[in-house]
Order: sequence, then C-alpha cells, then structure tokens
Amino acid sequence: MFVDQVSVYVKAGDGGNGLVAYRREKYVPKGGPAGGDAGNGADIIFEVDEGLNTLMDFRYNRHFKGKRGENGRSQNQHGKNASAFIIPVPPGTTVTDVETEEVIADLTTHGQQAVIAKGGRGGRGNSRFVSPRNPAPDLAENGEPGQERNIKVELKLIADVGLVGFPSVGKSTFISVVSAAKPKIADYHFTTLTPNLGVVDTSDQRSFVIADLPGLIEGAHEGTGLGHQFLRHIERTRVIVHVVDMAGMEARDPYDDFMKINQELKAYDKDLMRRPQIIAANKMDMPGAEDNLAMFKEQVGEDLPIYKISALTKEGLREILFAIADALDNIPKVPVEVETEEKVVYRYQKEDAPFIISRDPDGAYVLSGDKIEKLFKMTDFNRDEAVQRFSRQIRAMGVDEELRKHGAKDGDTIRLLNFEFEFIE
Ligand code: GDP
Ligand code: MG
Repeated sequence: MFVDQVSVYVKAGDGGNGLVAYRREKYVPKGGPAGGDAGNGADIIFEVDEGLNTLMDFRYNRHFKGKRGENGRSQNQHGKNASAFIIPVPPGTTVTDVETEEVIADLTTHGQQAVIAKGGRGGRGNSRFVSPRNPAPDLAENGEPGQERNIKVELKLIADVGLVGFPSVGKSTFISVVSAAKPKIADYHFTTLTPNLGVVDTSDQRSFVIADLPGLIEGAHEGTGLGHQFLRHIERTRVIVHVVDMAGMEARDPYDDFMKINQELKAYDKDLMRRPQIIAANKMDMPGAEDNLAMFKEQVGEDLPIYKISALTKEGLREILFAIADALDNIPKVPVEVETEEKVVYRYQKEDAPFIISRDPDGAYVLSGDKIEKLFKMTDFNRDEAVQRFSRQIRAMGVDEELRKHGAKDGDTIRLLNFEFEFIE
C-alpha cells in the first residue's frame, strides 16, 4: 500500500468574550444587565472533495487556524458564531491525532465532513449571571479556547495514470523528474514488481498520482501472481501514458515497441485499450529522434496525441503534464469502494485529571491541566466578581485541599499559566 502522509497543525477558533453591559434607562443608574453572549469560534472541518487525488495542498500549508467568535453585544445580543473553516480533502483520507493516536476521521464519500478541531464556546454575558443575590453581576465569561491538535493526515494512493513502455525507454526517469513527492512505500509483497509511484503537481495546481508499472504488463496476462493491490492500481488508472524511446537506442524500432506493448495491454485486459492513451515520445534530445518520430507518425497513421519530451533535459514536460491533467479532468473516477476491513483502533484513554500540582525550582506550586487552564482562560481577571467566581470554582474542584496536602502554607506562591497568586489559608 502506498501512503502519502503529512503532519498538520490545526487550531480551531476561540470563542468570543461575553459582554458586561447594562440597560440604559432613565432615572435608573444601572438598569439591569444587558451584556450578550459571545459567538462560538470556528470549527476546523475536513470535507471530501472527489475532485482531489492527493494531499498535495497540504505540502504548502500545514497550519490551519479558525477564526474567533464575535464578542457579546449590548442589549443582550448574541455575538456571531465564526463560520467553520472547511478544508477539502480527497476521498480515502484518514486523520489521526498524533498525541493520542486516536483515529479522528476516516473520510470516504463526496461531501462527507468531519470536525477535526472544535471551536471554543462563546463566553456568556453578564445577563446570564443574574441571581437573586446578584441582580446586576459585574462579570462575564471569556471565550473557551478552540481545540488545538497536531494531526497526521494520510491517504492511500491509487494511481490515476499508468506509465507503460519497454524497459529502458525512460519511465523511471520520467517519474523522477515530474513527481514532486515520493510517497512512502510500505509493506509491499511484490518487491520485484513494485511500481514506482509519484505524486505529480502541475504548475496550474492540479495534481495526480502516476505509477510506473514495470513488468506489470510483460507476462502479467499469463497469470503470474500479481497482488490484489497491484490490480487495483491498474484498474483504477484512467489514463495510460505510453513512453516510446524515439532515439531507437539498442537497435529498437519505436513503432514495433509501441505495437507490442499495446498487444500486451489488450491481452491483459481489453478495457485497458479503451482508456485514453497519451504517447510520450521520449529521448528527443538524441540525434535521429526527429526522423524516427516522423516515421513513427506515418506508421501509426491515425491522429494520436503525441508529445515530444526529453526526460533527461526536461524539455516538453509541462505540456505533457497539462495534457494528462486535462484528460483526467474529463474522465470520471471509478468510485472508491469502501473496504470493509475490520479496523481495531486502540485508543489510548487520556484520563482527564481536572488539575495537576507540581513544583517549580523556586518552590512555587504549579497548577496545570486542561480543565483548570480552560477555566482560567475563560476568566476576566480585570473584574473582581470574575476572580471571585474563579476562586469558588477551583475550590469546588478541590484545589485548595489538594494544595494543602502537598504542603502549601499561607503566603506560598501558586502559579497557573502566566498568573501568580498567594495561597491563603
Ligand atoms: P525505464 O526502464 O523505462 O524505467 O528507463 P529508465 O528511466 O531507467 O532509463 C533508461 C536509460 O535511458 C537511462 O540511462 C536514462 O538515463 C536514459 N534516458 C531516460 N530518458 C532519457 C532522455 O530523455 N534522453 C536520453 N538521452 N536518455 C534518457
Ligand atoms: Mg524503470
């Protein structure tokens, strides 16, 4: 299986901050709370686009950040939620959380979506903190931070384009000069027949997967044990690029070669001959190649798409890649059949301790952990009431008690992210 793989960082949008505001009423100094809730931060969503074949777009952009939600507004108006950041991915893409190794998404069908990082909830405005004891609360909640994670994006590659031709016509050279990425080749049984796969990236941002299929054709129809994966590759190729050595090196005749390979293709699978074939007239840098090409054209007779290239000097590559991409654009893909392979996912369950206490070298007690840090970030420390609420919340979590158990005494420094306070008995 050929796997293309990229590491990506995603950070969903933070929620906006809730507002502290009061109604303006004649003769009433503080006419009741009127601070609205804030909008939620943008989710980062992957969506399947069947027009994509590769993870090429991720090679240029590996950081994705969602927008922040709008802050709460006056007159109890809700801030706007940030719209989701939707990133298109090819069918067959899987997403794994690097830290937990959890499979977050397995995306197969067109239009299918998965939330990869959840946007933070918008903070609540002061109207929401009204209680009989506190009819005009002077606090609001800050937005919840958006989820942030490092992910691994993987795609099992299936070749769109099959490269055929006699040995030594320049197939391997062609792949090496046109492919921008060499996918990792994992666990292939048929090592001697391993097709050489490359991800091609045209200068107008289209991309496709090309496979050199050496030995696949020769003798293959006689039923030598080709692997299932192999057949899949050839069955899925939508365009055949036929490389012909126009220099006629090793006393070979280009036309004769061309006919022989087509014969093999037909014998292997009649359908293969129905796929569009683009002829790469290679080694055009060699003397005599032009004459051979003229003769070849005459012998072929019909008007076939022939592109003059030199894999060595890289002449003509841009044109042939465009022709291949154009041909692919015009042929619908064979729908990806979902493999019903039982997947056992071992989830490493991260026990979410509400907080952790450790010591810094200077003796300070350090509080950390997702829950307490989130609570901290959602607190507006410029407002006394908010600070009081925060202390109540962490006391309810058992922080005071636990600090005491760790030996904290009156006046000791407690650190939480970039904030310090004194422990008070
Ligand atoms: P494959 O067997 O079809 O994969 O062929 P290779 O890519 O291994 O190439 C066979 C030989 O042809 C190598 O020595 C290449 O350097 C040479 N070759 C490939 N492309 C060109 C070309 O465009 N011009 C010339 N002069 N030699 C080439
Ligand atoms: Mg080769």
